[in-house]
Amino acid sequence: MADEFIPYSRQDISDADIAAVSAQLRSDFLTQGPVGGEFERVFAERHSVRHAIGVSNATAALHIGCLAMGVGPGSLVWTSPNSFVSSANCAVFCGAEIDFVDTDPATRNMSLDELTAKLETADRSGRLPDVVIPVDFSGLPCDLAEMRVLADRYGFKILEDASHATGASYKGEPTGSAHAHATVFSFHAVKIVTTGEGGMIVTQDDALAEKLRLLRSHGVTRDDALLQRVSEGGWYYEMVDLGWNYRLTDLQSALGLSQMTRMDEWREARERLADRYDVLLADGPFKRPARFNDRVSSWHLYAVELTQDARMGRAEMFAAMRAANIGVNVHYIPIHTQPFYEKLGFAREQFPNSVAYYDHAMSIPLFPAMTAAQQDRVVETMMTLAA
Ligand SMILES: *Cc1c(COP(=O)(O)O)cnc(C)c1O
Repeated sequence: MADEFIPYSRQDISDADIAAVSAQLRSDFLTQGPVGGEFERVFAERHSVRHAIGVSNATAALHIGCLAMGVGPGSLVWTSPNSFVSSANCAVFCGAEIDFVDTDPATRNMSLDELTAKLETADRSGRLPDVVIPVDFSGLPCDLAEMRVLADRYGFKILEDASHATGASYKGEPTGSAHAHATVFSFHAVKIVTTGEGGMIVTQDDALAEKLRLLRSHGVTRDDALLQRVSEGGWYYEMVDLGWNYRLTDLQSALGLSQMTRMDEWREARERLADRYDVLLADGPFKRPARFNDRVSSWHLYAVELTQDARMGRAEMFAAMRAANIGVNVHYIPIHTQPFYEKLGFAREQFPNSVAYYDHAMSIPLFPAMTAAQQDRVVETMMTLAA
């Protein structure tokens, strides 16, 4: 009999989650009742941030984040090639130009040195970015304090893609509370806290929050302070900007609220598993995730890179792991190498660190309910195949 399948990630749905969603289904509100606001309030409090705005998914959050920061035709946005395609697509949605900053081989995040050098060049040529989207890959926060110094010097805004980093912190501050002008989280089913599909964008900036709230809901407002004309009655609303239907439903928010009560417990469970992988894989031909003492990862992913000493290449190893019923994955195919971006003029060799990482990378199973026995099976299979 084949061994049970071990997925690379697995959502954790408790009886309390199911009860919360059931209660919501029986309530008066499926979409825009009080629970959405409550989820936003609790999420904002947990991340020590003034405003949290729930949205239908993180891609929508990145889109309205760009728009609220003024991105449009003629704008320039930079992001990391080692991310999901949304981190770049959001700029293209707005008609802006996109470019990439290569990754740091240690953090696998946007390289601070590459960013600094690219900004110096851009400054000389007079074409600085308007928005930079650093991505907290695997849940490890980027060098955000240093990036903020650069943002203030060169006049760009930081839209942090923390889709992996719910519950992470940097220099003692929760992700989203400091440095970035706005920060995006994903609640897709494979992410840390899930609402099925869903996302949140947080900011300390009151004016930005107001724009984001308008953009996620048709650009329509009933707020007296925002109306441009005198109200015509209790039914009155105005469309003051072009917005989208990017709202999060109350059904989703009820699940999110219930999930959030286990966030800290999950982060600790993920970290324990990551620590154990570090020890168990130490003698194998694998480059493990680097550790930094100024930031706490949320451990969304545990990604190794096969070294020169491995007996097989990544493609062969991936196939052998899957054949052994272990759900490994690869994050990410560098965005600039996708056919769509190649057509925009990007070449594979332009961002060599992200490509070198991709060629050897493999994400191995990591989820809060993973048992030591499951983890041992993953490790033994990897060691037998590669060492
Ligand atoms: C998942 C993810 C997204 C997109 O999130 P959705 O909620 O599915 O739209 C964007 N960026 C990164 C880094 C992601 O991992």
